[in-house]
Amino acid sequence: MVKQENQNHYLLVTFPAQGHINPALQFAKRLTSTGGHITFVTSVHGQKRILNKSTLISDGITFSPFSDGYDDGFKSTDGGNNDEAVDRYMSEIRRCGKEALVDLVVAHANGHRPITCLVYTLLLPWAAEVAREYQLQSALLWIQPATVFDVYYYYFSGYSELINDNINDPSYSIQLPGLPLLKSQDLPSFFLPSNTYSFGLKLFQEQFALLLEETESFQILVNTFDELEPESLKAIDKFKISGIGPLVPSAFLVDKGMSDKSSEGDTRDYMEWLSSKDKSSVVYVSFGSIAVLTNKQMAELARGLVDSGRPFLWVIRSGENEPKQQDKDENERYKEILLEEHKGMIVPWCSQVEVLNHTSIGCFVTHCGWNSTLESISMGVPVVAFPQWTDQGTNAKLIEDVWKMGVRVRPSDEEDKIVKSEEVIRCLKEVMEGEKGEELRKNAKKWKELAREAVKEGGSSERNLRAFVEQIGLQ
Ligand code: UDP
Repeated sequence: MVKQENQNHYLLVTFPAQGHINPALQFAKRLTSTGGHITFVTSVHGQKRILNKSTLISDGITFSPFSDGYDDGFKSTDGGNNDEAVDRYMSEIRRCGKEALVDLVVAHANGHRPITCLVYTLLLPWAAEVAREYQLQSALLWIQPATVFDVYYYYFSGYSELINDNINDPSYSIQLPGLPLLKSQDLPSFFLPSNTYSFGLKLFQEQFALLLEETESFQILVNTFDELEPESLKAIDKFKISGIGPLVPSAFLVDKGMSDKSSEGDTRDYMEWLSSKDKSSVVYVSFGSIAVLTNKQMAELARGLVDSGRPFLWVIRSGENEPKQQDKDENERYKEILLEEHKGMIVPWCSQVEVLNHTSIGCFVTHCGWNSTLESISMGVPVVAFPQWTDQGTNAKLIEDVWKMGVRVRPSDEEDKIVKSEEVIRCLKEVMEGEKGEELRKNAKKWKELAREAVKEGGSSERNLRAFVEQIGLQ
């Protein structure tokens, strides 16, 4: 993007989860290329997840973390039952975050570089309240697909009863205006009766209640691109909704060369290991930064990976699946399968975009977190979609049926809905072999090219971002 001189000062606030911080940071970087200044706000713990701060600071980003009382991070086991603990955490982050935002707005209003726009990501309805109370221009940075935005929008503007009445029926499907036909399994997990995270729906409800009061000029910037979700981006005309993604590190969106720094505790020996493997032969497995599989599921997945006979790189975050008394045997079993047979490599974390960009990667077994999905699209890697919760079921639907660049696992009919090892093998075979595999790879490559076009000078996302910046500058 051509750098224009402008005085826009954006206060960009994000929830402190990896999947929120990563796209928010990329968005900040793209904004700096338009000449604006960014003050980036998240919790102290969220701030610790940000690497390469010095480069970002020299790009024109100022970091202003606040303490939410959980500086070492929140774990859902932090006292009380899950929902109570999450509720407590959410009310603390609301109280401390709101105070921090107000302090920043007031300090800048009376001094250097008044704030011209407050941009906030999901789960932060209190940021919208600050914008309103201080009459600031504001915008929502939606870090899930446009399709998911639309589903929530419809849910909170008249469709909730219909959905709630039917969602228990796995054969139910709903045709929402402008969206693909969605079955129960394709809807956000917070709608499901089995949802154990009541905080999720509550926060979205609060966020949409405020949003529905906004005027038509309110901007929603979606981490997607026009070519990927053309209908979903246009389905709702109540706001100005535009695709400004994929918010994947720009260095990886060019065909050659990508050398982002790796993450903490990341020894990078896996890159060497990947280089010892054949082109498109390795299965990369990761369930993101939050989801935890049961030990029984881990054992089935391990068996499936080993029996598929392919090399694999699997991210098992440290502390994840520590043996609990009741399932210690299961836990030991999958570790034995993996370690004795030496087919794969296990790492506690990796530089995922760099891994996906490696020529040896042939398939990504993913939970379909939106960042992981966009990273796979941007690197042209076909997918085995293994969704867990929140927007991941919708993302899996889009991957399989709309973009046709992957297959979705079918859980067994048993009560625990485990995905069996044979199913893992079936999906890997479909994605990596035969005519179907060929077609999925071809489609993945097509999306990769379109993703890269979108962020180039003159591409759809670049134009949409410039239009946003111009509108902010005009007011
Ligand atoms: N990630 C990473 N290394 C890992 C696992 C994940 O860098 O070993 C990054 C990944 O590239 C993505 C983010 O963590 O940008 C996870 O976000 P996503 O939306 O996919 O899932 P979430 O963690 O929010 O469920």
